[in-house]
Amino acid sequence: MKYIGPHVSASGGVENAPLNAKAVGASAFALFTKNQRQWVSPPLTNKSIELFKANCEEAGIISDYILPHDSYLINLGQPDDTLIGKSRNAFFDEMKRCEQLGLKMLNFHPGSHLNQIPLDKCLNRIAESINLALERTEGVTAVIENTAGQGSNVGFSFEHIAIIIDKVEDKSRVGVCLDTCHTYSAGYDLKTEEGYRATFAEFDQTIGAHYLRAIHLNDTKKELASRVDRHDSIGKGLLGMPFFERFMNDPRFDNMPLILETPDENLWAEEILLLKGLLK
Ligand SMILES: [Zn+2]
Ligand SMILES: [Zn+2]
Repeated sequence: MKYIGPHVSASGGVENAPLNAKAVGASAFALFTKNQRQWVSPPLTNKSIELFKANCEEAGIISDYILPHDSYLINLGQPDDTLIGKSRNAFFDEMKRCEQLGLKMLNFHPGSHLNQIPLDKCLNRIAESINLALERTEGVTAVIENTAGQGSNVGFSFEHIAIIIDKVEDKSRVGVCLDTCHTYSAGYDLKTEEGYRATFAEFDQTIGAHYLRAIHLNDTKKELASRVDRHDSIGKGLLGMPFFERFMNDPRFDNMPLILETPDENLWAEEILLLKGLLK
């Protein structure tokens, strides 16, 4: 079965996120468990945690289909020895919040070398950051998202992700979220039938299909290999409906959160229905 839903607002408290998901007919959702543009947020209250769990139940969405996303400020590959501590502490706090909410995954962008260290060193630092977080937490899988490769962001190539995973000690708690917009912008041609087949074959060969935990299901405004990250609404961008039809009927993407990070939230309910309508 396909579980679909958007990255919803948690404004007013994390407990509102499942209700926002329910309102658009979602069977999955993503959220930020704290303000994504601040380093420090107040801890989750017991009341907020209880309400979150109750509202997930009301929305009929279980933790397998909830994919929290970490703060945009965190850079687990940060070259500076002092600054990386700040990112690692913030990431640990995010993992802890997921643990408190009974969530099983935390989705994050791997990091950036900021043109200060070589790629391999940056990938090592990211793996080390993941190891440090996994050592101090329980039950939450670190889910690495592939990037479009904008600026000095690493993780646009499947090989980068494979290298990071290879250096993570607890392989049972590391996974991958593929963003379809980023994949295309990074140079993997998901649009054509042949390219679609080749991309997922390469994912399996390079990383391993069993590491795939989630999908960010987005259309894209930018050309193949543009290395620019600009999401578009489903079917309105360069990937187009034939891609989404192929994807929705591909059983490899059953039973994992398929998250819409599409730009027009007024279309979310419609997009969910549109995608479900593609099922044969
Ligand atoms: Zn994404
Ligand atoms: Zn993006």
